[in-house]
Amino acid sequence: MAQPQVTIDLGKIEHNARSVVELCGKHGIEVTGVTKCVCGNPEVARAMLRGGVASIGDSRLENIRRLKAAGVDTPYLLLRLPPLSGVEAVVELTRISLNSELAALEGLSEAASRQGRVHDVILMVDLGDLREGIWPDELPPVARRALGLPGIRLVGLGTNLACFGGVVPGEDNMNRLVELAEGVERSSGRTLKWISGVNSSGLDLIASGRMPPRVNHARIGEAILLGRETIHRRPWPGTFQDAFVLYAEVLEVKKKPSLPLGERGEDAFGKRPSFEDRGVAARALLNVGREDVDVEGVRPLDQRLRIIGASSGYLVVDVSGAEGGVRVGDELAFSLNYGALLAAMTSEYVKIQPVGKDPGAGPA
Ligand SMILES: *Cc1c(COP(=O)(O)O)cnc(C)c1O
Repeated sequence: MAQPQVTIDLGKIEHNARSVVELCGKHGIEVTGVTKCVCGNPEVARAMLRGGVASIGDSRLENIRRLKAAGVDTPYLLLRLPPLSGVEAVVELTRISLNSELAALEGLSEAASRQGRVHDVILMVDLGDLREGIWPDELPPVARRALGLPGIRLVGLGTNLACFGGVVPGEDNMNRLVELAEGVERSSGRTLKWISGVNSSGLDLIASGRMPPRVNHARIGEAILLGRETIHRRPWPGTFQDAFVLYAEVLEVKKKPSLPLGERGEDAFGKRPSFEDRGVAARALLNVGREDVDVEGVRPLDQRLRIIGASSGYLVVDVSGAEGGVRVGDELAFSLNYGALLAAMTSEYVKIQPVGKDPGAGPA
């Protein structure tokens, strides 16, 4: 294996999806499985769908295009705000999009009318996380305008928390979301089909039974992929945390001092690294680096190993704890957090290797 590799256990993804879907289902919440962290990988999307998610959401049109080209047949939800320059593609590729700008709604309306389709929209309100969303007092006029536009159908209200500001979803902000949705319903005389409350950060709230009953939609990525809720990053009960494993090959093993020799300036990334003096220790150089993963987000599965640092193409690992057990040509295994997984899936130097059955792929 000349390239580092990420293996994906599709059975574990399916299991995790089923576990999350069952929990949410008990509380009247439908789940959209989110594939943006795996660049819209079709095998992963199919595993999520086998596990029972109702639809697939992604933040990038390129990913949705790839999924559709691979024959993954499901309603698609665009999670990132539609680009004005891409409204035609949004209408063509997705059933529903999350929106906060009137200009984009107008663009979608025109595109949908041109294409003879109806495009569903969920309006996003910002309840304090300070990423996307309409500020609540500006919601009524935007909703009124959206309701009057041909070609688009306002089907819901949503919010996204815990992504930018780290705001925790709780009864207060979720009740506020329901209240805002009911305000739109009162003034328009229409019912909103969806109240889209949470991502993986909302599982605790759902499981504890404190989610307001009208919240009926969740967009879940990390909890299905990595088996964690995202407020404390605790393993989520009934899910696997190791569906993804990174393997990298050892290119060099040498005993070297733990402190660099000579006068020291900046490293390759403009930082001044500091090192702990642990005397002479066995170090391994692996064929994966900052170009491929977020080094802070990978952990050796063998607890005796310790990551010392990395450059663009090398990961440097202290292997002295393994007592000579690590040799040139060996493969070492690592777990990945969300950021590291995203980077590894995006790197064109990392081979992605789904393992397990993918019945949707058809005969080989
Ligand atoms: C990424 C994203 C999600 C999924 O978040 P997870 O923490 O992976 O569950 C949900 N909603 C929106 C709007 C997103 O951008």
